[in-house]
Amino acid sequence: MSTKKTVIVYQRALKPDLREKLERDCHVLDFSQTQNLTEDGEFKKALSQAHGLIGSSVNLTPELLDQAPNLEVVSSISVGVDNYDIDYLSKRGIVLCHTPDVLTETTADTAFLLILASARRAVELAEMVKRGEWTGGIAEPQFGVDVQGKKLGIVGMGRIGAAIARRGKFGFNMSVSYHNRSRHEDFERELDADWKELDDLLRDSDFVCVTVPLSDATRQMFGQREFELMGKDTIFVNIARGGVVDEPAMIEALQKGTIRAAGLDVFTTEPLPNESPLAHMDNVVALPHIGSATHETRYAMAELAVDNALAVLEGDKPKAPYNWDALDR
Ligand code: NAP
Repeated sequence: MSTKKTVIVYQRALKPDLREKLERDCHVLDFSQTQNLTEDGEFKKALSQAHGLIGSSVNLTPELLDQAPNLEVVSSISVGVDNYDIDYLSKRGIVLCHTPDVLTETTADTAFLLILASARRAVELAEMVKRGEWTGGIAEPQFGVDVQGKKLGIVGMGRIGAAIARRGKFGFNMSVSYHNRSRHEDFERELDADWKELDDLLRDSDFVCVTVPLSDATRQMFGQREFELMGKDTIFVNIARGGVVDEPAMIEALQKGTIRAAGLDVFTTEPLPNESPLAHMDNVVALPHIGSATHETRYAMAELAVDNALAVLEGDKPKAPYNWDALDR
């Protein structure tokens, strides 16, 4: 690049080596520590100069991005792209990039952590130890349920769904079924997995694990009816996005015992407000959206996001574009 283009880094700070890599070719404006970014006057001013944005977890609305007339690339440090208006970006020829694959295994580990912790009541019982209430032998009221050999139902058999299914099938001898709009015969062969209609999967699974992207088609996909189909022994695990669930309906299902338990990494409102019953229920394991949050994986995601942004700004094809149509413009 002859004249340096301007890139805004928001919400996630870059490690020094990645920041240096970016600074070799770009002028970097760092808003990684700015609270309430979308309300920040300096950020809005910076947008007017920006050719690229690198960050995540902020809803970048068209109204906001209208203030960035030179924008060429939005490089998200996430695989999910529900924070972006893809039609708007494509219409403007702005390339949206994301970080698939590098977070798949770590996120699948988190899903399995939720499966095991919910089944064995690990958080509830560890809290009991911390409170000094482990005063006698553990008896039936504290027993959990087995994971090994049970029926695992994956809703959204993509990269992460398949990685969770592999853990279930090969690590825990579980039988796997899945629901997807399209069938994946490769996964069916590899995992001996059955494709099922959603209702059948919900009726038949001991563990329902959600890994669909949040979209108009999946918003509130799980409501009262779906929880009733699951039944009282089912454990529901959501590693996708809070918006795929009707949260009040899930809370009611957990309180009434319509389902056994839930393992949740994502919520309708994040951070989860302390007033939410989900923060306090014994049969809920609530994690603070840590699906990909390991040192190694967050570094790999940031590195891919930087490489994606640099490629677009240099006129090359990025490794992981999301809106391919914008690349043709
Ligand atoms: P992916 O490979 O695109 O997989 C998503 C799967 O969902 C695809 O197989 C897709 O297949 C299916 N799907 C999409 N819409 C559907 C619908 N309406 N009904 C049924 N199935 C549908 O994506 P991924 O890399 O596995 O990531 C999945 C999601 O996980 C991300 O979008 C993100 O929101 C979430 N995630 C969360 C964390 C975390 O920190 N908790 C971390 C990483 C990712 P069809 O289109 O063929 O149906």
